[in-house]
Amino acid sequence: MGFEVALTEALNTRTSLLVKNVAVAGRQTPSQFNAQRSANMQAHSLSLSSLQAFQSLCHGAAVDGGWWNSLAWRDPDARKHFIAGKLALVHSEVSEALEAFRKDLMDDHLPERKGMEVEMADAVIRILDLAGALHLDVFGAAMEKIRYNATRADHLPANRALPGGKSI
Ligand SMILES: [Mg+2]
Repeated sequence: MGFEVALTEALNTRTSLLVKNVAVAGRQTPSQFNAQRSANMQAHSLSLSSLQAFQSLCHGAAVDGGWWNSLAWRDPDARKHFIAGKLALVHSEVSEALEAFRKDLMDDHLPERKGMEVEMADAVIRILDLAGALHLDVFGAAMEKIRYNATRADHLPANRALPGGKSI
């Protein structure tokens, strides 16, 4: 299935669920939601190939920078610890984003941007670098997960509002 078809299906599924759950105070009406989603889709003409190219860019930049030169990456026994370290570095970026958010900081290196924004970008870059190294299809999986989540009863606003529902 093409990425744009999958995206449209996901949005249509989500929209149909929203239509069934209109009575959410302070939220967009279904028509507002549909109009906004339509505008967003037209404004961001995404394709899976361009997203996968972005993943290659992230990993290629890290390779060029020498971040994958470690002998640990080449050793079968050490590799799993090396990969675990790469995942831990994603945690570190998310923690930096939290601190920037707590203190409403601007970024040190890109001072015109919010620190939270840049640290979240760092986390994305690190995730895509690792995904590129391991040949993981993160964007394809993300699309499948969005489609799956759109079918989950426990994600519907009406069900989340029930006792024991997911409040956040
Ligand atoms: Mg950072």
